[in-house]
Amino acid sequence: RLFVVTGPSGAGKGTQARRLVERRRDLAVAVSATTRPRRPGEEDGRDYHFLSEAEFQHRVDTGDFLEHVDYVSGHRYGTLRAEVERIFGSGRSCVLELETQGAKEVQATASDAVTVFVRPPSFAELERRLRERATESAGEIGERLALARHQAGEAGDFDHVVTNDDVERAVGEIEAIVDRALSRRSAAGKLRAT
Ligand code: 5GP
Repeated sequence: RLFVVTGPSGAGKGTQARRLVERRRDLAVAVSATTRPRRPGEEDGRDYHFLSEAEFQHRVDTGDFLEHVDYVSGHRYGTLRAEVERIFGSGRSCVLELETQGAKEVQATASDAVTVFVRPPSFAELERRLRERATESAGEIGERLALARHQAGEAGDFDHVVTNDDVERAVGEIEAIVDRALSRRSAAGKLRAT
């Protein structure tokens, strides 16, 4: 089963996705590919597969991506099919953490994907988080904020909306969504088997 955690940059969806898979052994987060520079503390292959523009384009041309987008500052991000297949192959459900355009692409191609939009408690809080992280230039933070304002209006396009007011509470809410989706799936399987 495929779960997509989406929402604006700075809403806390990365933390949500990580905390979710820490709680559950039946889920794993797919490691995306990106052309953006590595932040301090990030590891290649763990946080992202950091690719050059030429490598990324080559993988686009060979059809390696389930979805990919051009994001702010010309940086590119994409979900590698091989990552998702590796997780499914290990018998686990897959969690994708995506900005909204990629999330919509996945919705269109994998109609049984369950999508969760994570929103910050307020726009002021989102701005504070992005500035506090201070990993991007002022110009790029401005671009991310402008995009976040646009993305806030897209919440209604997804199956569920979770407000990240408190990390543990919000993760609990996402976990309950996962549980319901997985138990629906297993009930349907049992029905088919009888
Ligand atoms: P960041 O640079 O802060 O790590 O990520 C920027 C945005 O790209 C975040 O909203 C993140 O969720 C999104 N993102 C990360 N990986 C992917 C991906 O593979 N595909 C898409 N569409 N978005 C991604």
